[in-house]
Amino acid sequence: MDTNRRNWLKQTGFALAGLTLLSDSLYASPGHDFKRIPAGGPIRLSSNENPYGPSPMACKAMAAAIAGSNRYPWANTNLLLDKIAAPYGLKNENVLLGAGSSEILGLVAQYASLQKGNAVSADPTFRSWWNAAEKCGLDIIKVPLTADKKHDLPAMLSSINAQTRLIYVCNPNNPTGTILPATELKSFITEASKKALVMLDEAYIEFCEEPSMAALVATNKNLVVVKTFSKIYGLAGARIGYVLGHADTIDQLASLQPWANAGVSAVSLAAASASLDDKDFISDTNIKNAAAKAHTCRVFKELNIPFIPSHTNFIYYSSQGFTGDINAELKKNNIEGTRIIEEAGRWTRITVGTMDEMKKFTEVLKQIWK
Ligand code: PLP
Repeated sequence: MDTNRRNWLKQTGFALAGLTLLSDSLYASPGHDFKRIPAGGPIRLSSNENPYGPSPMACKAMAAAIAGSNRYPWANTNLLLDKIAAPYGLKNENVLLGAGSSEILGLVAQYASLQKGNAVSADPTFRSWWNAAEKCGLDIIKVPLTADKKHDLPAMLSSINAQTRLIYVCNPNNPTGTILPATELKSFITEASKKALVMLDEAYIEFCEEPSMAALVATNKNLVVVKTFSKIYGLAGARIGYVLGHADTIDQLASLQPWANAGVSAVSLAAASASLDDKDFISDTNIKNAAAKAHTCRVFKELNIPFIPSHTNFIYYSSQGFTGDINAELKKNNIEGTRIIEEAGRWTRITVGTMDEMKKFTEVLKQIWK
């Protein structure tokens, strides 16, 4: 065995041993209040995480990266930027990293609000950035979804006015799981981006058949595409997301980060890079997700529970037929759902977990639905 490989194995071995020690002792030591998610704790069907991840290749890469954490990871940052950009025919100047895409959504909102005005957004949608936008001086113009819970693109277009600084589209949409056909979305982007910056959030795009719009940023300064490693890549806890944009737009956004691209740890960079290589993990997740989702939808149908066909790893359903608070009732049964998102119809959302978790969820649902 050559020296490099031996050293690498030695380091990886130490790092893996370190990880085991971390999980066994650091979490348990009285000086730290890190919490391990206890076995037998609630089944988490609340935050659209990947129940199967991180991928084995990402775990290995994280373990190996621990020992290098005394150094700033710039070389690896650049490698990851290249790797993210390449599939869309883009370059590393078209990418900016953040500690999760939430940070990036807030950053884009902050950038858009340098000129006061408004932001156009569907409602309901993923709204974590609304607060930051409002604080920075943007009024949110909320455009209701269509009756079948899709973005109402014509209504969104006609809501844009001279004060509009930002237009947000989440595709597929959280919480409804609906998708916009590529042709419709493309022509919306063309029109809307003539008026203001379009922020397209593709957090769940890998779960569906429709393509990413990221390549369009090469020629459109008024489009940014925000993506995350938190969902299909199974790295929600690693906190890494990014935005793709025209080089000039990325330059502007980067100037709002105190240290551009520096918010992501060496360990998370390694995880993200390995995740992009682990194609089997992604297809395996998609296969398992589709089966667990199909099972859940079958039971919704059996119980006559209205739900929206989902292109993601969560399902939007109406709890109107249930007397009481469905999520409180699920909680009593050790299942963490979310909240009532729309009062009219008492629509709520459930994340698609593993088949076992969804069997538990549907068993409970059958018992409590009344
Ligand atoms: N965008 C959408 C549509 C989401 O649903 C989420 C998380 O639930 C995020 C962005 C933020 O994810 P993160 O900050 O973990 O990248």
